[in-house]
Amino acid sequence: MAKIILTGDRPTGRLHIGHYVGSLKHRVQLQNSGRFDQIFIMIADAQALTDNWDNPEKIRQNVLEVALDYLSVGIDPEKTTILVQSMIPELTELTFYYMNLVTLSRLERNPTVKSEIQMRNFETSIPVGFLTYPISQTADITAFNATTVPAGEDQSPMVEQAREIVRKFNSLYGETLTEPEIMLPDNKASMRLPGTDGKAKMSKSLGNCIYLSDTEEDVKKKVMSMYTDPNHIKVSDPGQIEGNTVFTYLDAFCKDEYFAEYLPDYQNLDELKEHYRRGGLGDVKVKKFLNKVLQEELAPIRARRREFEKDIPYVYEVLKKGTEKAEETAAQTLLRVKRAMKINYFEDEALIRSQVEKYQK
Ligand code: ATP
Ligand code: MG
Repeated sequence: MAKIILTGDRPTGRLHIGHYVGSLKHRVQLQNSGRFDQIFIMIADAQALTDNWDNPEKIRQNVLEVALDYLSVGIDPEKTTILVQSMIPELTELTFYYMNLVTLSRLERNPTVKSEIQMRNFETSIPVGFLTYPISQTADITAFNATTVPAGEDQSPMVEQAREIVRKFNSLYGETLTEPEIMLPDNKASMRLPGTDGKAKMSKSLGNCIYLSDTEEDVKKKVMSMYTDPNHIKVSDPGQIEGNTVFTYLDAFCKDEYFAEYLPDYQNLDELKEHYRRGGLGDVKVKKFLNKVLQEELAPIRARRREFEKDIPYVYEVLKKGTEKAEETAAQTLLRVKRAMKINYFEDEALIRSQVEKYQK
């Protein structure tokens, strides 16, 4: 069976370092590994509208921003098909048919959607489109016959939902759809990078992000005001690593070679953590080091972005071509789905013949 990747992002803002370690970095590695037959990356604008219906301009602007972020981290349109969700109507059609296979209570149980509803104050009145976005995500995954979905931990319930729909569809209508698997980052800190405020998840909607396109000064400012251990008041105090965002970011980004370059008193992160726990290591020193690490990681991305920013029509061309190519695959899947569901009246000669016979009797 062909190995196919589908993954994507909501164009609700520029992409941040949580996306980078949680998904983007991995995508580039997978893209360049040659281990996959096809890779689709989707800009999920229709999904983004499910909680931004009142601000389509924001989504419209960010389609380009996300595309620029992709290109700047090294997504290569020669190897990866980048597509825009709303431009492929087959995805909406698949969603409609899959809706028959899911109950309301099943949707309400989704833990990621539950916390997103809370975050958006949707509890008293949940928009139907928002509640059902996991179904549309199943349409996206299955339309491209994806076997693998590289994503952060918050996406596990979505892929689980997709697997359930696929199994139900196949058992009802015959083997038609491919059951996908999630591919999580191997580094625990990267599965769900917290925000700079220490909140559970860095998220465009929470405004606690370090963006890939932030300037050097912005990154520094954000790092220096980051959440650490609130009980670590004096330098001599013993400090806590768990839940300390500065260390979580170091877990996600730090390589041993950065110590030799920027903090030669320590060999590696374990030694730094040990000193912090013991006491005698100040937050400012650790933050300055984290800033160096992040600047090293982000500088090449920022530079590549500047190059692509000079040719916006090229970026749109990439999106248009990718979307056209992706639609061919989605159309084939939709045809298979409709045939399996017997929604193919006009091409089904046997059906018409049997009905002719029925009325000739
Ligand atoms: P929004 O607030 O609009 O939902 P978001 O920041 O959650 O935006 P998405 O577009 O929903 O970003 O997510 C895109 C991908 O990035 C998904 O694979 C998701 O798992 C991953 N991701 C998002 N935030 C993080 C994070 N903080 N840590 C690790 N992975 C993340
Ligand atoms: Mg999200």
